[in-house]
Amino acid sequence: MLSLPEARERILTAIVPLSTQRLRLTAAAGRVLGEELRAPGDLPRFANSAMDGYAVRAADLAGLRPGQSVGLQCVGKVAAGAAPAAVVTPGTCIRLFTGSPLPAGADTVVMQEDTRREPGNPEVVWFHEAAEPGENVRQRGEDIRQGQVLLPPGVRLTVGRIALLGALGVESVAVGRQPRLALLATGSELREAGEPLGPGQIYESNRAGLATLARRAGARPTRLPLVPDEPEATQAALARAFHHRDVVVSSGGVSVGEMDWVKSAFTAVGGNLEFWRVAVRPGKPFVFGRWRDAYFFGLPGNPVSALVTFWLLVAPALARLQGVKDCALPTQTGVVAEALVNQGDRPHFLRVRLEGGQVRSAGLQASHALGALAQANGLVEVPPATTLPTGTVVPVLTWD
Ligand code: AMP
Ligand code: MG
Repeated sequence: MLSLPEARERILTAIVPLSTQRLRLTAAAGRVLGEELRAPGDLPRFANSAMDGYAVRAADLAGLRPGQSVGLQCVGKVAAGAAPAAVVTPGTCIRLFTGSPLPAGADTVVMQEDTRREPGNPEVVWFHEAAEPGENVRQRGEDIRQGQVLLPPGVRLTVGRIALLGALGVESVAVGRQPRLALLATGSELREAGEPLGPGQIYESNRAGLATLARRAGARPTRLPLVPDEPEATQAALARAFHHRDVVVSSGGVSVGEMDWVKSAFTAVGGNLEFWRVAVRPGKPFVFGRWRDAYFFGLPGNPVSALVTFWLLVAPALARLQGVKDCALPTQTGVVAEALVNQGDRPHFLRVRLEGGQVRSAGLQASHALGALAQANGLVEVPPATTLPTGTVVPVLTWD
């Protein structure tokens, strides 16, 4: 049986990222960058004013002591978006606004609030304090230098990255294609919401949660019809599922019961089984295989097991398919507020609630217990036969 890190490594090694596509910048938020981007120009593009005020030569104000003032002749005005027509020479200043280009000759901007103009003589602006050269000036290239690497391939286009690319006039970017993912639920006991339940029947609940996780991982999920526990039906459903799909995810039917047809059906339709068990709780039965260019993940049916194994093993695979380099799952640090116990012989990913930095069990830790899952916002790995006592600092895989 593979350990979880071995299973993840096997999966990520097998994955070949999908092709890239070009998207307009505004459509690319959240997608994975498929190219290296270098700055086409400096940011700021030109030295400009950070304030409404006056462009001056700091030397003209040097040596001003409390109570002293100096008057400079105002020789022009530059609006934001305009090119300076005049030059600041000794004894003069130019009116500026936030974003106005700094006129030649000036090295400093004094904010309007620190100056005075007399109604009788509006051409002269009075200054009362010395200024540091460069004060209130946004220098050309102080943020970004032309030619520098802005973003490497394989990173997600976050809000800040989109904004930066927008400022540089980038119109479109290459991003990894989103995996098309089919979701199958197997089990003769399963019914769709809205249908009446007969004896022994339950509502199917895995596809909704898995579709949510799949979307969050950047994939485009489709839910396929329910599959009864019959070998022919399972084979037919799998064969159909792989049609035009990059990934097929099934739940149920991968244990050792005589009604568990998924593994044999997958090989019967030509799939290559890579492995089928992982030493993890919840979720020991877990199938990974390949079918031509596509990938197959057979998850256990128990709802908590299905969702947890998807998060631990399928979500990183979906990230890699889109070209993500670092597929580590997001974590936050928390402090155990009530001992977390694992008496079993496999690592147990306990469903926890992380609140104000404190970590507590989210309730019943059983693989069918969705009540506790609904309370949880993270998972904490507790090694086999281990108790994490109160006060232990742990990484929490953040779930919500
Ligand atoms: P299996 O892995 O097929 O042996 O299923 C394990 C348990 O999970 C059984 O109690 C099933 O009824 C339940 N189960 C399997 N698939 C689903 C599903 N899609 N929705 C809700 N419960 C399920
Ligand atoms: Mg079943």
